Amino acid sequence: MAVVGSGPAGFYTAYKVMSNIENARIDMYEFLPVPFGLVRFGVAPDHPEVKNCQDKFTEVASSSRFKFVGNVEIGKDLSLEILRENYDAILFAYGASQDRKLGIPREDWFLGIRSARDFVAWYNGLPGYANLQPDLTLGENAVIIGQGNVALDVARTLLTDVDVLRKTDMAEHALAVLARSKIKHVHVVGRRGPFQASFTIKEVRELMQLPDCSFRQIDPSLLPSDNFKLSRTPKRMLTLLQKGSDNLGASKSWSLDSMLSPVTFLGRSRDCQLTGVKFVENEYQEPNQRFEPSAKVHTKSPETQKVFPTSLAFRSIGYKSTPIEGMSNLGIQFDETKGIIPNDGYGRITGSVKPQVAATGSHDRSAVLPGIYCAGWVKRGPAGVIANTMEDAFATAEAISNDWQDSKRFLSGGDGWDAIASLAQATGLRPVSWTEWLRIDAVEKANGKLKGKEREKLSSVSQIMSVLD
Ligand SMILES: Cc1cc2nc3c(=O)[nH]c(=O)nc-3n(C[C@H](O)[C@H](O)[C@H](O)COP(=O)(O)OP(=O)(O)OC[C@H]3O[C@@H](n4cnc5c(N)ncnc54)[C@H](O)[C@@H]3O)c2cc1C
Repeated sequence: MAVVGSGPAGFYTAYKVMSNIENARIDMYEFLPVPFGLVRFGVAPDHPEVKNCQDKFTEVASSSRFKFVGNVEIGKDLSLEILRENYDAILFAYGASQDRKLGIPREDWFLGIRSARDFVAWYNGLPGYANLQPDLTLGENAVIIGQGNVALDVARTLLTDVDVLRKTDMAEHALAVLARSKIKHVHVVGRRGPFQASFTIKEVRELMQLPDCSFRQIDPSLLPSDNFKLSRTPKRMLTLLQKGSDNLGASKSWSLDSMLSPVTFLGRSRDCQLTGVKFVENEYQEPNQRFEPSAKVHTKSPETQKVFPTSLAFRSIGYKSTPIEGMSNLGIQFDETKGIIPNDGYGRITGSVKPQVAATGSHDRSAVLPGIYCAGWVKRGPAGVIANTMEDAFATAEAISNDWQDSKRFLSGGDGWDAIASLAQATGLRPVSWTEWLRIDAVEKANGKLKGKEREKLSSVSQIMSVLD
């Protein structure tokens, strides 16, 4: 099986398929020269325990039935057609590499408007992002639009003492910029209320516990009275928000600013610098449902506006998957609206098929395409933590194993990377093997040790490849 992507979805599916099918062999293709996807380039540096899953992935990769083919982008460096001709199965596990935009005026106009995705990629040392260098010295306020875990990761990064971050694997270029930061207050802004936000209690608690940082009280009208009946999770959230933090006199602060939708960005034409974000206030469509997670809001009538002055704004309203070139030739009609590969819920990709290749034998848009599967964020959308991605990958692996054991139709088969390698190298590709990744890993750990941290990531492809020269 060819696996496209080396994040948790790719590794957990590979692990289960290799356990279920005795002779299964996996070639895992990764666009970057290094593995692990968002575990390496998304998860916040101050959450090292979350990255422990890399140990499991390393164990999977140590099998003689597993090959890592890094530095090869499927769809560009190597076509899907070639994969189709050389494997029994293809698994798409390539995650969500774009971010969703707000779609409001002037979003691309002013300096100081950033995507949280880019900021996270920058502080995590993703190749291609070292030059982002946001200016954190122009003002004391930052605005983050969105109330998910990524928004809180960004807020925590901006508010944490840089000497604490120095002990993590955060990129040195980011530490240098954060050391000069003048940001004192971070607004985390949501279009709905705190009970509809998608952050978890753990992330809120971490922010509440930051030393020298206080939480500005939330608007009390958004919180239920003491005798209001809430289920367990919202009740714990309520207790946390009511308690707040007791860091009175702290030099930094943050706030959850709810029921606000951004309408435009404000800035100076002279130097194109952002000066503020304008919001409209929202109200609940059904006020008696305001503590329900699914409660809906609309713009308050009559309309009222609110401006947060700031030189720095992040949009953090989610990630987005995009199709890989050549997918339509496999019969896959990528769902651009949902940003996922259409599938039967178990990871079997559905699409338009010619009668002779349809598993069902019919010319049916929703027919299962033989031998092609998906897992992770590209299967169910960009939400959920690694544990959710693991469950989802295991479900796809069960579907693959069952189909194989039931002798369902697969692709034409072949020798996979063993057959493709010489052809690929003749076209100038420089694939990175697992053994080579272990050399890169050792260099990063040794560089980190010199600075008293777990690792110092090499943050450009040329730096990474120079280790292998
Ligand atoms: C900022 C951020 C912080 C997070 N923090 C946490 C946390 O603290 N705890 C937690 O449990 N979860 C966290 N998550 C969620 C977790 O990272 C995801 O659940 C998980 O990574 C999704 O796995 P995936 O394999 O679907 O995608 P990814 O991890 O994105 O892996 C996809 C891989 O495919 C590769 N790829 C893309 N296109 C191609 C191509 N054409 N050819 C070859 N390879 C390709 C990519 O380079 C990438 O390596 C966080 C997510 C984000 C965005």
